[in-house]
Amino acid sequence: MNVDKVDEVDNADESNVDGNNAEEGNMTAEKIIEQAIWAARSFYDRGKTSGSSANLSVRLGEDIYITVTGSCFGCLSAADFVRISRGSPVPGHKKPSRELPLHLALYGRDETAGAVIHIHSTYATLWSCLPHPDEDDVLPSCTPHLRAKLGRVASVPYAEPGSEELFAAFRARVGGQNGREPNGYLLRNHGPIVAGKTLMDAYFSMEELEDAAKIAWLLKDFPDREKL
Ligand SMILES: [Zn+2]
Repeated sequence: MNVDKVDEVDNADESNVDGNNAEEGNMTAEKIIEQAIWAARSFYDRGKTSGSSANLSVRLGEDIYITVTGSCFGCLSAADFVRISRGSPVPGHKKPSRELPLHLALYGRDETAGAVIHIHSTYATLWSCLPHPDEDDVLPSCTPHLRAKLGRVASVPYAEPGSEELFAAFRARVGGQNGREPNGYLLRNHGPIVAGKTLMDAYFSMEELEDAAKIAWLLKDFPDREKL
């Protein structure tokens, strides 16, 4: 990877990168961006996202690097990451994903969060279109894996993607759980979003959320199914 193409990511203070938000103690910013590109391509190649609808970010020290608006997970490069400092794009950088406020809400809630991923994977999106009796816990645990990896998944009321209404609804949901913190969210009639301590942690959580939604969807017409 040509690190000169990363918007200043190669200038990030590596002492920060070695902190809680790094994948591993000795991972460099360049390596984490490479991993993010790999994760995005993995989702795209397996049909878990398409077009330019997905976005992801990583936190490196004080800064966040998020995919540029309109980027495609199938062909990201280091140049497709926009540096966000103190909540705003660094002047001269490209335009970040319009879903940036969702990412900032999750980083603001948990100072140990190191990455956020949002995709429109099919089964989680299908599940987001169903009514759920408990909006704080919308995905049934048909296997032990969802709870083990991700914990609860909460629903966020529908609002138009990229709108202030959606951002406000999301911030209210993220900040108002009364100690029952979910680790994943389903934006109603839209798709899933997760945070993780590291990029790979968020990647595995999204994988588990989508798998759990697929199992739940395939079992939804079997009322006698066992739930854990
Ligand atoms: Zn979306």
